[in-house]
Amino acid sequence: MSLVPGLDKFPKHTLTFGKTPIQPLRRLSAALGGKVELYAKREDVNSGLAFGGNKTRKLEYLIPEALEGGYTHLVSIGGVQSNQTRQVAAVAAHIGLKCVLVQEKWVNHEENEEVYGKVGNIQMSRILGADVRLDDAGFDIGIRQSWKEAMEEIQREGGKPFPIPAGCSVHPRGGLGFVAWADEVREQERELGFQFDYIVVCAVTGSTQAGMIVGFAADGRARRVIGIDASAKPKQTKDQVWRIAQKTAELVELGKEIAEEDVILDTRYGGPEYGIPNEGTLDAIRMCARQEGVLTDPVYEGKSMNAMIEMVRNGEFPEGSKVLYAHLGGVPALSAYSETFKHG
Ligand SMILES: *Cc1c(COP(=O)(O)O)cnc(C)c1O
Repeated sequence: MSLVPGLDKFPKHTLTFGKTPIQPLRRLSAALGGKVELYAKREDVNSGLAFGGNKTRKLEYLIPEALEGGYTHLVSIGGVQSNQTRQVAAVAAHIGLKCVLVQEKWVNHEENEEVYGKVGNIQMSRILGADVRLDDAGFDIGIRQSWKEAMEEIQREGGKPFPIPAGCSVHPRGGLGFVAWADEVREQERELGFQFDYIVVCAVTGSTQAGMIVGFAADGRARRVIGIDASAKPKQTKDQVWRIAQKTAELVELGKEIAEEDVILDTRYGGPEYGIPNEGTLDAIRMCARQEGVLTDPVYEGKSMNAMIEMVRNGEFPEGSKVLYAHLGGVPALSAYSETFKHG
């Protein structure tokens, strides 16, 4: 049962293994002084469908509509190394629909030029049978012309395209997966015998954090969700998180408003650009890997990992805090950054 009254009325198509594990990050916590207990909830291993990730959890609430509505294609959009499009490709294959993906130049990837368009997520999407279309447009989390054109083409050919926006985020049900995530955390907190003081989560297209804010607003913890911007366009991201949180709150009949102050977005770690790691990102990726054996990526999770590490180092969490890092996936992009890590 959900603490959020209206959530249970939405159908869900299972695509994940179920409840994701929460694991203590013991060595990382100790290496950072041992005053704060760090944990990770592992959305990066949430599914057997092409490595899964946070979009797979969101898609569980979108797919019932695609199946019931007689759609023939899932259509989605992202950057060349988009995790979203890889997850949509896997889900389309799994449920027996066709898949068209518009992949744009969201990242200036000069350093990794030779491999960027061939390995990792885009390689997997191609193997999964998706019709991958490259487009020259730059980074934007909004709705794009190229995407509309793909939709129209499918319709002209007699198909029925099911549109899935970037990160599933502006789909009306895009936030539901992570509203449910908050219920799952509460259930796990009961088993663990304690509550987390803070949740650290990466944010770009916004519905992951927005869903969490709504889910945790149900027990007064919305402001314990600390979003870490990885878009380097934080105003756009914050506005989108807030907008999605408000709409999602209404959809699930939360019974309270989500205020702008409920959206905590830390903008210190997203630079220099979307998809380009800074030195801190790379150090955090190496530190988490070497302390825990857990991999993170240079686009998203390395940035939120860096944020959490720096916040512990700077004493920004009170001593004794229990901090839950939401590991949202993204590791399939690592091979596209082979040049960046050629010396480890
Ligand atoms: C998409 C993604 C995010 C960002 O989630 P949003 O819901 O788009 O804000 C973070 N980490 C990974 C690995 C992602 O694929």
